Amino acid sequence: MPEDYYQTLGVKRDASPDEIKRAFRRLAKEYHPDAHQGDKKEAERRFRKIAEAYEVLSDPQKRAQYDRFGHAGPEQGFDFGPGDFRRTREAFGEFFGGRGFDDLFNMFFGEGVRTRDRAGRAQRGEDLEYRVRLSLEDAAFGAKLRATAARYAACSRCRGSGLAPGTGLKTCPTCKGRGQIEYRQGSMFGMFVNVRACPECGGVGEFAESPCPNCGGEGRVREKAEIVIEIPPGVEDGARLRLAGQGNAGIAGGPPGDLYVTVEVQPHPVFKRRGPDLEVELPIHYGTLVLGGVVKVPTLGGEADLRIPAGTDPDTVLTLPGEGLPHGRRRGDLRVRLKVVVPQKLTRQQKKLLEELTSSLPPAQ
Ligand SMILES: [Zn+2]
Ligand SMILES: [Zn+2]
Repeated sequence: MPEDYYQTLGVKRDASPDEIKRAFRRLAKEYHPDAHQGDKKEAERRFRKIAEAYEVLSDPQKRAQYDRFGHAGPEQGFDFGPGDFRRTREAFGEFFGGRGFDDLFNMFFGEGVRTRDRAGRAQRGEDLEYRVRLSLEDAAFGAKLRATAARYAACSRCRGSGLAPGTGLKTCPTCKGRGQIEYRQGSMFGMFVNVRACPECGGVGEFAESPCPNCGGEGRVREKAEIVIEIPPGVEDGARLRLAGQGNAGIAGGPPGDLYVTVEVQPHPVFKRRGPDLEVELPIHYGTLVLGGVVKVPTLGGEADLRIPAGTDPDTVLTLPGEGLPHGRRRGDLRVRLKVVVPQKLTRQQKKLLEELTSSLPPAQ
């Protein structure tokens, strides 16, 4: 059962807009994170509840809706996502000054809580992050991955402008379109004229005449989108790929953000990666090292022949050029370390042959 918004703010049901604002201001200060170093999580949780309550009760339309229908709401209920705390953000700006409150805000709501400002100024969409896990084979040869991600897409109703079809922008009545207001301040030294950005329109001088009903004026809606991620051949573990324009759609027609894909390459059971080169251990018989020969070596794409010269020492590393990972226009190498296999069980016949061989050789030292 969600908390009653009036209770959350500690006001009566017939509280005036001023009383609501004062209550919110008091609580917002109380739950300021600086005052809650010890129990930040709880402070954040409380603050979010306070912000939600204020968001609804400070908006006459939402408040009326809440009074009638409670938390369910007749249409979509009061579901809060990033960008839904416009009023809270504005109130915060008034309380704590223009600077700093954005940081504070983002601490509570995560990044990407930028929202359309009051004037409907276009803003770039947020960048998004995505992580993918790849096999070494996919990292080596490249891959095309499909993933589903929730993101904002341009609203189809208003084509991203945020304006109701057939409407435009209107001049701000407070500053008459100038974007600034002057106010006079008296002091013991006389009268001063101060100029500052108009709080009504955020300094732009215009308002959206009527916000698009489909997106609430933001010019974008949340949706599940299929994204195609092209993994280039030879990608490194930890690489960060940028997919330009694949992030959130912009606000009020602003340009879209980018999608950043962080690549995690899973360890391979056979190969070790060293930059563009690969390493593999190859078990081999003593006789092959002594006599030389050609053996099969596993490669990322299948297998290759490796020539072993006669008289090769154990633990020698032989190189197969071009069997590593692509880097630039070239490919790294495959380094093969030769490991002698010492048989644990021999037949009588094998034992006899080895004894004959050993006794026929000169002493080892
Ligand atoms: Zn729209
Ligand atoms: Zn204005």
